[in-house]
Amino acid sequence: METRTKHTYRTQLYEFAKDVLVECPNCAHQALVNTNGETVFKSEKVKVRVVCGHCGFNKYLEQLWAKSKHFLLGAAVDPFFHLPLWLKIELGDHLLWAYNHEHLRFVEEHVAAKLRERNGFQFQTRSIGARLPRWMTAAKRREEILRAIEKLRNKKA
Ligand SMILES: [Zn+2]
Repeated sequence: METRTKHTYRTQLYEFAKDVLVECPNCAHQALVNTNGETVFKSEKVKVRVVCGHCGFNKYLEQLWAKSKHFLLGAAVDPFFHLPLWLKIELGDHLLWAYNHEHLRFVEEHVAAKLRERNGFQFQTRSIGARLPRWMTAAKRREEILRAIEKLRNKKA
């Protein structure tokens, strides 16, 4: 258990940047940025496309971006098309977001665990744990955040 937690704690944000749930640019329902399970940095080789099961919207990256494409990590948009994420919710002045359900679960585990209080653990500067904003890991907001995550999980597509 200890080992697993330490491992996931070092998971990088980009490891979740695959098969991202977004708002469909056409109908605003849930759509998928399909990377065939490849992450941002491996996606050069795969054809990334956005697919909507509601309205049939279906476009490859090349069709939407001419050139000079760049990956955008760490914002409430998918790194490929820069479409608004599906899994996002406002909490006061803050915005909680996740690329997909796997990422949401990861954030949940970290908020739920009292990792910040653990003794002798050094933050990995590039880890997602270090990237989680301070407000997310503050003890007083933890329950509110977990409720919001639960709401996101059940968001109707
Ligand atoms: Zn659609």
